[in-house]
Amino acid sequence: MRTPVVFIGHGSPMNALADNEFTKSLEKTGKTIQKPKAILVISAHWLSTGSFVCCDDKPEIIYDFYGFPKELYEIKYPAKGSEKTAVKTSKLLEKYNVSCGKWGIDHGSWTFLKHMYPKADIPVFQLRADYGKPAAHLYQMAQLLAPLREQGVLIIGSGNIVHNLRIIKWEPDAEPFGWAVEFDEKVKELLISGDHAKLIAYEKLGKSASLAVHTNDHYLPMMYPLALAGKDKIEFTHEGIQNGSVSMRCFISI
Ligand code: ZN
Repeated sequence: MRTPVVFIGHGSPMNALADNEFTKSLEKTGKTIQKPKAILVISAHWLSTGSFVCCDDKPEIIYDFYGFPKELYEIKYPAKGSEKTAVKTSKLLEKYNVSCGKWGIDHGSWTFLKHMYPKADIPVFQLRADYGKPAAHLYQMAQLLAPLREQGVLIIGSGNIVHNLRIIKWEPDAEPFGWAVEFDEKVKELLISGDHAKLIAYEKLGKSASLAVHTNDHYLPMMYPLALAGKDKIEFTHEGIQNGSVSMRCFISI
């Protein structure tokens, strides 16, 4: 069995508590894919310096957000980790100086996994992408993860194609900004046509790019599923914009 690769636009942590089109799409994706042996998430929210995988059989859940309702901090996602698979992953990425590091399961993972795999019965481990490195570097590094797909590991990049918190609107269903729609559509077309070079050089995609990728931490996790999909077809499992400036576009490549 070769696992698919997935990109999830995770958006606000509040989606963990929501029942909306996005969370329904996650439930559907979880049911559609053959149950993986482990899940590797490249989350936008592991932001230490350097490149690491979390090699821990009992990862802790990290509530890495502030000022949200109490019930969000009470959510549990008691998935195990997979030290063995994480160590194997670090070896695949040895030439990029990836080693085992201390972390857990942050909200860039559990807020969507809770809908996708509510039983939390699949081991989860995270990889920290080094966002100080150019997109091309991450794209090349990601290709080395391909053998994990043959071993039943589901690889998920988790961020947002459009992510600008500086001018976010508090209402989830607020009218999207024109530049957010424009950039999201541009990326959609490039994903369909398979023009990875332009997606890697996203800074050159016009004025909307600088607003949509205001900081690169949420865009770059997409490099992993993109590189691993290669020339294979990409299907969108969800699209839409929340809070005016956060694209919830998700895709899968089987
Ligand atoms: Zn995020």
